[in-house]
Amino acid sequence: MSNILGFPRIGKNRELKKALESFWGGKSKEKELEQVAQDLRAKHWELQKDLDFVCVNDFSLYDNVLDLAYALDAKPKRFKGLSGLEGYFAMARGYKDGVACEMTKWFNTNYHYVVPELSNEDTYKADASKIIQQYQEALSLGYTPKIQLIGIFTFFALSKIIDGEEKEIFKKLKKAYLELIEQISILNNVVIEFSEPIFAKGFNEKSPNLQCVYNSDTIEYIYNEISKKGIKVIVSTFFEHSCELTEVLLKTDIYGIGLDFIYGEKNKQSLKALAKSNKVLYAGVIDGRNIWIADLESKLALLDSINSFIPKERIVLSSSCSLLHLPFSKEGEDKIEDEILSWLSFAKEKIEELKTLELAFRGEKKDFKKALEENAKINCSRKNSTKTNNQKIRNRVKQNTLKQRNMPFKERLKLQKNFLNLPILPTTTIGSFPQTPELRALRLDYKKGNIDKATYEKGIKDYIKDCVAFQESIGIDVLVHGEPERNDMVEYFGEQLEGFAFSSNAWVQSYGSRCVKPPIIYGDVERKNPMTIDWITFAQSLTKKAMKGMLTGPVTILNWSFVRDDIPRKAVCEQISLAIADEINDLQKAGISIIQVDEAAFKEGYPLREENIKEYEKWALDCFKTSTAIASPQTQIHTHMCYSDFNDIIKTIEALDADVISIETARSGNELLKVFKKIGYTHEVGPGVYDIHSPRIPNIEEIQKQIQALLEVLPKEQLWINPDCGLKTRKWEEVKPSLKNMVEAVKAIRNS
Ligand code: GLN
Ligand code: ZN
Repeated sequence: MSNILGFPRIGKNRELKKALESFWGGKSKEKELEQVAQDLRAKHWELQKDLDFVCVNDFSLYDNVLDLAYALDAKPKRFKGLSGLEGYFAMARGYKDGVACEMTKWFNTNYHYVVPELSNEDTYKADASKIIQQYQEALSLGYTPKIQLIGIFTFFALSKIIDGEEKEIFKKLKKAYLELIEQISILNNVVIEFSEPIFAKGFNEKSPNLQCVYNSDTIEYIYNEISKKGIKVIVSTFFEHSCELTEVLLKTDIYGIGLDFIYGEKNKQSLKALAKSNKVLYAGVIDGRNIWIADLESKLALLDSINSFIPKERIVLSSSCSLLHLPFSKEGEDKIEDEILSWLSFAKEKIEELKTLELAFRGEKKDFKKALEENAKINCSRKNSTKTNNQKIRNRVKQNTLKQRNMPFKERLKLQKNFLNLPILPTTTIGSFPQTPELRALRLDYKKGNIDKATYEKGIKDYIKDCVAFQESIGIDVLVHGEPERNDMVEYFGEQLEGFAFSSNAWVQSYGSRCVKPPIIYGDVERKNPMTIDWITFAQSLTKKAMKGMLTGPVTILNWSFVRDDIPRKAVCEQISLAIADEINDLQKAGISIIQVDEAAFKEGYPLREENIKEYEKWALDCFKTSTAIASPQTQIHTHMCYSDFNDIIKTIEALDADVISIETARSGNELLKVFKKIGYTHEVGPGVYDIHSPRIPNIEEIQKQIQALLEVLPKEQLWINPDCGLKTRKWEEVKPSLKNMVEAVKAIRNS
């Protein structure tokens, strides 16, 4: 018995993306979109046909959390008049004056879900027709379907309560949710797998919504109610262990429990209790969110250890989570070297692995000798390849003693102030300037070989010249080159580092129709050649003012890549740190006195469970410090983080020991800044003074007001003035007046 928890829906060649965008653009009709969706479902089921079930309702036109909200009629007031696809996409993307619902990360993945908004005024009403329709579709094609549904606790925890009392809202929601199940239960012999990843956070989960209902009694009650409806109920948790909650689930009448043995090793501790129950274990043994080929021998060993507690007939082999987080298939991949490609396994290949594993687990191992041998050979090649084992790099990491800057911040600061001689409230930007269509075309033409290097470089240099001239003309203090040579802040560095591979088609859904193609870190990482020096020194040569070098930090490079699983993440990050250190060394040698090391994804890497946070914080912090340790006291290190929720991690932020940090506060108000004051934050801070995520141009007065508000929280000596993120998504028509107003506002304050 084997199954998965969901399949990527975007399509082998991103068919869904294309169909959605054509529909949104008014170029196709609902019927055509629905046809594409139906074809995709059929194709994806075909791939699952040898498993025990094919997944139904894992497919979504935009997002599963949104699907559930919609099925429960949990629609914000501003969209109440809308129905059908119009209402559905309105919630996801906005409609006229009605702003879209927020979007946020699905646990610690890079997938974003649409945040449901719940209010006292809502009257929920269940409608399972879409789910039933997909179920019938699968039946009519001859498959055995299993419905994937987000559990009510996870759904509630991830929602935003707009007004009203949590308990009351939950009560209403529960009624509709049970009604939804009731509607589904008219189907014969239906199996529903409820995803409750929130359970993997343990009972410590701080979601304020959950507090009032997050207890054994309520959980037991609800899952018993659901079980009464004559359906086979499986409750699955993933991304971590869920030992405490498994205990509760074992007391219920559900049929099966899904546990993640890849990211939740501790789940093994639940096996004894599970054995005593009569429940079926859906054992997540194939990694559902990383791209490496499984080592089948070690998987069989893992299964044997599970089997020492639980009889085989009560074990169903499973992926650790939905395969949503994986690219479709590695077939046709032409950019990755064959050797490395052989180490990879995407969604389609994971299903094949499950099938082989299933046969080998149930049958006689000798019958699968060939497949197992083949698999062992590939794993052996991966293990012993010089690509994954570079002794020189390993030794360097081991022997590195330069792990923090050698002069305390206060003393460094004096040297820096003296050398840089900046005015009070220095102005700067976060790095990128608008990525115009011409710029994108230039990079693409060069990549495709349509233009030669000289033409490309001239194009980039002309852009840098314009950026510098503009910044000088308005009187910004610390300049940037504008990042015209970069497609993406991680890809740009990954492409120049050893140990990284890039695919041509390994797309993963990020949100809606948006997909990303994360770099693949397969081997030991090293910087062979300078990555940014030529561009930055060219930019510096155009001005007497300080030109800020611009790098992406080690933790962000790690968190936005598919990372090798044969050594700890920490070890990979340490290698990247030294590559960044090399770049910093070269930059300062080339006369660059301010260097920004962006850590946009530092917070994203935080573990789900509190018990693991310390460990992550320690190595992530150490890696950032190692990457910047080489900077001489006089070199000013900046960092940038794209969020404002610093309360939990402010001490860690301070411990990064960056001389200056620029952060996002424009959208969240100065409340959040108070934490800097509260802890007596000593380093310098540039809280964004305007929101770059909107095309709106802020006027001088409002920026002035914002700066004044900042001055109430932090002393002027500690403050920098900048927008709250990079400007690459904006247009020049917006950027020019906005920055001009920002500089004018600062000047007015300096003079007052
Ligand atoms: N330096 C980068 C930029 O300006 C930072 C982007 C980010 O924080 N996401 O684009
Ligand atoms: Zn940012």
